[in-house]
Amino acid sequence: MPFDLITIPCLSDNYAFLLRDHDSGKVALIDVPEAAPILAELKARNWSLSQIWLTHHHDDHVMGLAAVLKEHEANVIGAKADVHRLPPLDRKVEEGDSITLGSLEAQVIDVPGHTLGHIAFYVPRAQTAFTADSLMALGCGRLFEGTPDQMWASLQKMMAWPADTTICSGHEYTTANAKFALTVDPENPALISRVKAIEIARSKGTPTVPSDLSTELETNPFLRAADPAIRAHLGMQTASDTDVFTEIRKRKDNF
Ligand code: ZN
Ligand code: FE
Repeated sequence: MPFDLITIPCLSDNYAFLLRDHDSGKVALIDVPEAAPILAELKARNWSLSQIWLTHHHDDHVMGLAAVLKEHEANVIGAKADVHRLPPLDRKVEEGDSITLGSLEAQVIDVPGHTLGHIAFYVPRAQTAFTADSLMALGCGRLFEGTPDQMWASLQKMMAWPADTTICSGHEYTTANAKFALTVDPENPALISRVKAIEIARSKGTPTVPSDLSTELETNPFLRAADPAIRAHLGMQTASDTDVFTEIRKRKDNF
């Protein structure tokens, strides 16, 4: 592997990630929920940050930034669309842009839905994507700003990544997501066994993030609007995928 990927639990249920390129030793931090655990991890590894990539403007993804910047001189990168509500950016990006971290290159993808300016970072050489509150482990972010159509379009972009892509999402919401998933897809054997694995992991305090795209495609109901069993369960056999997704999202909001 040409890189290291470190998951850092922050606040009560957030995750930040460190991505380090082996060739150059350069390190990127993805999201900054809380400075202390991030600074401690960097210190323990004797790493210094080159870049900070922000996925979206919510406080629980940017709050630790000022304190991290006091100790690390890093380039802060975030969505051009959200400059007015993100912390000061050194580089503003949008879909189609790429970010170079030593030998690694990240593609910027617009994934509106949770917020309108939410972006994801896909790093092909690391087979890793940072999706924060767009595609999540067994779930997707709540639609605070975007429409269901927008989120469905965003999810479809992410579903097109290679199935072995590691999905680094922003929260440990998987236990609640699992309970909901079983209500719309109760017969899915892959989901049933994943839920058991989640229970075991959480009973030991082990993170369920990151996950991988193939597992999400098999078990995450928000990616499975086309699945005949889910459609039959919802009585929506002839509906469009967007309508099925919209119904699943609505049920989750009321769950
Ligand atoms: Zn958020
Ligand atoms: Fe969040």
